[in-house]
Amino acid sequence: MIYVLDTSAILSGKFFGGKIVTSPKILKEIKPKGHSWRLFEYMKSIGLELISPPLVDVKKVVEASKKTGDYHNLSDVDIDILALAYHLKGILLTDDYSMQNVAKELGIKYMGIVEEGIKEKWKWIYRCKSCGKYYKEYHKECPVCGGDLKRVRKR
Ligand SMILES: [Zn+2]
Repeated sequence: MIYVLDTSAILSGKFFGGKIVTSPKILKEIKPKGHSWRLFEYMKSIGLELISPPLVDVKKVVEASKKTGDYHNLSDVDIDILALAYHLKGILLTDDYSMQNVAKELGIKYMGIVEEGIKEKWKWIYRCKSCGKYYKEYHKECPVCGGDLKRVRKR
């Protein structure tokens, strides 16, 4: 299985198994020093290959992204990576919504990197069942009317 990684996938430092590739244009998005560079070097040491996609596939991605309306949200690096995934029939690894959208349009398989559940954070607040007042902290009973409090989610 071939995995095509975007910048965030590389910088996640996760090991995906199989063959891992990306576009040489990725170097534009990785600072040549520090933590990101060390992760990039690490990914290369475990087999990350840099491959340029054929121009015909780049054009195909540009067309598809204009059709879906994602074109302006994509960098030329993103487009290259999408084209590479298309060319190699690999699985695209990205958390970028626009990239996922264009991948869907082109029939490219994709996977997110960050596990679901981390993105969404819930906060809890308390609401009085009688008078409807909201409280940030827990109370045994409503300080205003003495009614029962119910825990509710706040988005
Ligand atoms: Zn109350």
